[in-house]
Amino acid sequence: MIELDGSAGEGGGQVLRTALSLSMITGQPFRIANIRANRDKPGLRRQHLSAVRAAAVVSAATVSHAEVGSTELEFTPGPVRGGIYEFDIGTAGSTTLVLQTLIPALLHAEHPTTVSVVGGTHNPKAPPAQFLQRAYCRALAALGADVEIDIERFGFYPAGGGVLSASVWPCRQLHHLDLMERGALREAYAEVVASRLPEQVAQRQFSTVRNLLGWDEGQMRPTLTPPTFSPGNAVLLTIESDAVSEVFSAIGDRGVRAETVAREAALEARRYLASGAAVGEHLGDQLMLPMALAGGGSYTLDHVSQHAITNAEVIARFLPVSISFEQEERCSICRIKRHV
Ligand code: AMP
Repeated sequence: MIELDGSAGEGGGQVLRTALSLSMITGQPFRIANIRANRDKPGLRRQHLSAVRAAAVVSAATVSHAEVGSTELEFTPGPVRGGIYEFDIGTAGSTTLVLQTLIPALLHAEHPTTVSVVGGTHNPKAPPAQFLQRAYCRALAALGADVEIDIERFGFYPAGGGVLSASVWPCRQLHHLDLMERGALREAYAEVVASRLPEQVAQRQFSTVRNLLGWDEGQMRPTLTPPTFSPGNAVLLTIESDAVSEVFSAIGDRGVRAETVAREAALEARRYLASGAAVGEHLGDQLMLPMALAGGGSYTLDHVSQHAITNAEVIARFLPVSISFEQEERCSICRIKRHV
């Protein structure tokens, strides 16, 4: 039984999600204490509980203490089974984080899977749906995995009700990948989702992006106004290069000015562009798990976050790899090596 301390390092939900994925894949049970001890409302929230329950369903696991507010949990997986699954978070909790827990494990199933999750598709502090589609899935494809994400319905806080689905084809052995260069720029564009909000919100956000990134009018895509249960706003900046795609984003909130939201996304994109790194901060913490499953690899990232450091520690508890970070002049390098 692997024992984890959920308060170590970053101390958020990622420790739990990474442990769930790797437990399903390696068959090793784990016990985690102090879940999300460093967050405002510690313990399991609906979104985390949904990840636990979904993981338990796809791997026929036995789980103890799986309740909202629980600060500890024990998870003993069985074999991962592909098939057709539907999960409902029951709140606007992040559907992308639930899918990211399941996808690496479903690559190890014998049969293909279609899984849909109901909840939020664009949440603060989580990858937006397009990030999964464009950045995460493209990186998985470079590792040899075939995963497709469909946004069936957009969902924003507080009503949620979004539907995100994933099709996952089995791929038992991912390839080694060295992603040191992003390669030449193919396309960079800005999108604004502004559902049930005045059109002027999007125009102010496009103008902030143009000013901060020096992008031209042709790089501004038509405003997206999908039907949603709650009003919602997201700024999405996509940068597609020869070797990798990135999506930088920010989610609007009541009382936060439209320009402030756009600025947050634009500054993150600007930092990435200036760094020369292959991936940004978020893909930087998420790419590590599939690369470790491949048995090794390396990539440059614009910023090593606390999420990345903590994730590296959790991964090394389940897999025979060592993960190190080196600081270069403008960016950092993450190296993943299998123990000999
Ligand atoms: P946690 O805070 O532990 O629940 O983990 C949140 C996860 O969401 C981490 O993998 C973050 O990198 C990821 N994340 C947060 N914000 C974004 C964003 N704007 N784009 C992509 N991923 C994000």
